[in-house]
Amino acid sequence: MKYPLVEINLSKLKHNAETIKKMCNKQGISIAGVTKGFCGNKYLAQAMVEGGIEVLADSRIENLEKIKDLDVKKLLLRIPMKSIANKVVELTDVSLNSEIETIKELSNQAIKQNKIHNIILMIDLGDLREGIFDENEIYDDIEIILKLEGINLLGIGTNLSCFGGVIPTAENLNRLIEIKKKIEDKFKIKLEILSGGNSTSFQLVMDGKMPREINHLRLGTVILVGHDEVFDRWIKDTYNDVFRLKVEIVEVKNKPSVPIGEIGLDSFGNKPFFKDRGIRKKAICAIGRQDTDIEWMQPDDKGILVLGASSDHLILDISDAKDDLKVGDEVSFILDYVALLNAMTSEYVYKKFIQ
Ligand SMILES: *Cc1c(COP(=O)(O)O)cnc(C)c1O
Repeated sequence: MKYPLVEINLSKLKHNAETIKKMCNKQGISIAGVTKGFCGNKYLAQAMVEGGIEVLADSRIENLEKIKDLDVKKLLLRIPMKSIANKVVELTDVSLNSEIETIKELSNQAIKQNKIHNIILMIDLGDLREGIFDENEIYDDIEIILKLEGINLLGIGTNLSCFGGVIPTAENLNRLIEIKKKIEDKFKIKLEILSGGNSTSFQLVMDGKMPREINHLRLGTVILVGHDEVFDRWIKDTYNDVFRLKVEIVEVKNKPSVPIGEIGLDSFGNKPFFKDRGIRKKAICAIGRQDTDIEWMQPDDKGILVLGASSDHLILDISDAKDDLKVGDEVSFILDYVALLNAMTSEYVYKKFIQ
């Protein structure tokens, strides 16, 4: 076995996709399965499709290119770079947009490629990441969009909890619904899709509080980790161990819990704080912050404590570990979203697929 590695259980991923999809479908919500958490890996994307996902979404065109042969619709999540409008039209069926200049370029490319490109216009409800904030701008833009050849306005959408941490609620989503109604009245059109956000909107589905008019979500995290990050809840009938990180111990020694000497900044610019717990048995593992995020991983053995990490050393307190761990032994962790994202992106972390 080569370490460090992420062990990926494809059947569990398929099961999670199935569960989340069913829960959403029951409430009249269709979903796009988001692949960016695993860099658009083909096997994982395939497992999502086997779980019933009919649209795959990613923020990066490179990831969508990796899965272009999978026979499902593709959606680009990040507002497209105008400079890659040709690729966006070529490789995706739908993109999320907020800039009229880019939409015009998508129209040009769609005409050239003899295609119809679908767009979802993004509205900023206050989280202050992407989307049109000024309501008048929405109507001005739509007037232009409806005249563009090669472009189909599929609907409107929003994204919350990404920059501002604003939690999706029935109240803020109702504003999206009102805007949709105004658009439909004003322009005498029907909008097919009302896209109510990412995994942080899924808690409204769990609690039966999602407004009925919202009929679309873009979901990655909840499928990957089976965990509602807003209210820190496990999602029933899902696995939260689709991904397991396994690392190798390279040093085991008894050491004090407080460093010796004057404490300055650590290698990441933070001033560390240490509680004196006496001499502890500590292990160093061969992985670091270049490959993962220690705030977002949990040792399988609850007796093991993550003390910290530098670029390529992870330091554990193994005094209360179940096993008598030695150099060369393996320690395994369950990964939450950010640790997962980094581990899947790191070229130093091996990937192993199991069924
Ligand atoms: C990443 C992203 C998503 C999916 O986010 P999760 O929280 O992983 O479900 C949805 N929409 C947009 C615009 C995104 O960038």
